[in-house]
Amino acid sequence: MSEKILVIGAGMAGIMAARTLHDAGYNVTVLEARDRLGGRTHTDNSLGNTVDLGAAWIHGPDGNPLTPLAEQLGVARGDTDFLNRSGTAVQAYTHNGTPLNMTEYTQGQLLADAAFLKAKASILYMPPAQAHSLKDLIEHGLPQPENMTETEKLGFHYWSVIRAEYSDASDWDLINWDLLVNRYVKLPGGDLLLHGGGYKVLVDHLADGLDVRVETAVSHITTTPNQVHIQTNHGPFTATRVIITLPLGVLKSGAVQFTPSLSQAKQKAIQRIGFGNYEKLAMRFDKFQWPQDKQRFNYLSDGEPSLFNAWLNIGYYTGTPIIVAYHAGRRARLINQWSDGELLEHALTVMQRIFGDNGFGHISAPAAYVRTNWQNDPFSSGSYSSDQIGQLPTDRQILAQPIGQQLFFAGEATHPHFYATVHGAYETGVRAAREVARVINET
Ligand SMILES: Cc1cc2nc3c(=O)[nH]c(=O)nc-3n(C[C@H](O)[C@H](O)[C@H](O)COP(=O)(O)OP(=O)(O)OC[C@H]3O[C@@H](n4cnc5c(N)ncnc54)[C@H](O)[C@@H]3O)c2cc1C
Repeated sequence: MSEKILVIGAGMAGIMAARTLHDAGYNVTVLEARDRLGGRTHTDNSLGNTVDLGAAWIHGPDGNPLTPLAEQLGVARGDTDFLNRSGTAVQAYTHNGTPLNMTEYTQGQLLADAAFLKAKASILYMPPAQAHSLKDLIEHGLPQPENMTETEKLGFHYWSVIRAEYSDASDWDLINWDLLVNRYVKLPGGDLLLHGGGYKVLVDHLADGLDVRVETAVSHITTTPNQVHIQTNHGPFTATRVIITLPLGVLKSGAVQFTPSLSQAKQKAIQRIGFGNYEKLAMRFDKFQWPQDKQRFNYLSDGEPSLFNAWLNIGYYTGTPIIVAYHAGRRARLINQWSDGELLEHALTVMQRIFGDNGFGHISAPAAYVRTNWQNDPFSSGSYSSDQIGQLPTDRQILAQPIGQQLFFAGEATHPHFYATVHGAYETGVRAAREVARVINET
């Protein structure tokens, strides 16, 4: 029987699965629901320069397959010094807009970084038995130095809580600290922001020459002994093997039906693995109304994380006055309920407080803006997988397991260590393609 392979989804996992099989000579077609490739990488150029509305950084560029690719394709890249080791990359502000002493603040961030390493590796450290969430751990067990200054405490808070909430697209009371600290692996080399072309350049290059059917949404996958039948809005497709790279949020939503149903073990893993929210508001102004020489701005309260607590100055890298505000977890879901007018009004109020009142005068409205809503996009239903309380260390492997010799699974959520990243998705696509090739060679 001649082999026909279908890949569902043209994000990084699906593209790499198809690329690997296509290059090995297999007959492979990709079915993609949206009218564009890239999935949760989505490069926007409407503001006059590159803004990645999904993934923007290569997190851990050393040993990362995306780094040489970006270099080869000439994508402009710039380091982001989140920790502010340089002492000059980040400016933080209190809730009332007072600029913080960045030497002390950075020391607080470094102390938090060390505390997590200690929680991970010290044989003298014992987390409290009831510490399930990151909040439990920080409030009752994270080894924190005594006598931190108020500013160091704010730096410690940003790094241990707010930064973790962005890594996990979740909230500190929901994050499974054990998985976050002990399962997620970051490659070395810091964080590389792709600008001047962004992730789209990589995606288009990797997808070049592949058979991708866009605007083809899969609704039902039926497995019979010899074939897999796929129902879509563009009619049926049939294959001998199928690689499924649907985002975990889509699997959770039940938008795609399986006959026979997925096993109980897989369904439970799908329920238990977290899938978080992370949204961006990118604004272009007529001129810089913030310090152009800083990469990041943090806006803090000393209790629960505040809205608009993290900003990226795209203009630092490109010279174009574009700034991006971020929200994760509950705060992302809250702002998704706001109209554009409400969102911009809140953003400008914070900008007035931290930039305007610190020397930039009246902050005028943006000339243009773009906002995301990954939460309510039916083809992602959220942003990326997270470490959730109740999730088992083996759940991602269970999600990744093939069903028989016909259905294979890829996508960032199936990676045991590099989940929630583009390179994680990349690796799972290659892994699933190899699984398919092995089965074909053995039959
Ligand atoms: C706001 C945000 C910021 C991020 N920042 C970073 C970052 O800086 N660095 C980083 O490494 N990672 C980041 N990530 C995570 C990264 O984008 C993802 O881990 C990665 O892109 C996922 O790739 P994937 O192929 O697994 O899934 P996806 O890219 O989601 O691909 C799945 C594909 O399936 C398609 N699909 C969905 N439903 C159907 C259907 N019914 N039928 C057919 N097709 C369907 C989708 O349209 C999509 O194209 C970020 C994500 C978000 C949302």
